[in-house]
Amino acid sequence: MVKFMEKVRTFTLPKLPYDYNALAPYMSEEQLKLHHDKHHQTYVNGANAAFEKLDKAHQENIDIDTKAVLKDLAFNVGGHLLHSIFWENLAPSGKGGGVPGGAIADIINEEFGSFKRFKKEFSAAAASTEGSGWAALAIHPCVGRPLIMQIEKHNVNVFPTFNVLMVMDVWEHAYYVDYQNQRPKYIEAFWNIVNWDQVNKNLSFVK
Ligand code: MN
Repeated sequence: MVKFMEKVRTFTLPKLPYDYNALAPYMSEEQLKLHHDKHHQTYVNGANAAFEKLDKAHQENIDIDTKAVLKDLAFNVGGHLLHSIFWENLAPSGKGGGVPGGAIADIINEEFGSFKRFKKEFSAAAASTEGSGWAALAIHPCVGRPLIMQIEKHNVNVFPTFNVLMVMDVWEHAYYVDYQNQRPKYIEAFWNIVNWDQVNKNLSFVK
């Protein structure tokens, strides 16, 4: 899980918790390497560049295009944090997928009636996300029920302060090498490598 209270004032690309070839055949080494090393790195760099602009503006008391900088920052921070959750909620082939157990299974069954129904609804959210975006499972004690978020880009349609338990990246950059334009095939593959142990761990955030 992402550490939200880092003392350092910039972001760093996290290392993957498995080898680049660990998710094959569902996600190839080439696809994963490109996605992690290039795309995720770009969001880390983008967020840090926006931080730099803010630091300079604050230190030298100079005006900035506030709207543009904050918009850019929100997009890149969202991109970095969602990718950081995504890598963790994937597991090497043969070690993930299947039906969840533990507390997350109870939460899913209670809310959606069955895992099958949840999988269908989450997949539909992922398939119909407009343009580039994410499907996410999130929860907040204020309402005591899990919700599926359909995030556009990295930061649109997010429910503020909800805890994100699991995400699926449906940007084309996440699957184009392996599946070309066939997003549904990629979505189906995702269910073979989802790391339910990690999703259960992410629940510990929820008090
Ligand atoms: Mn991505």
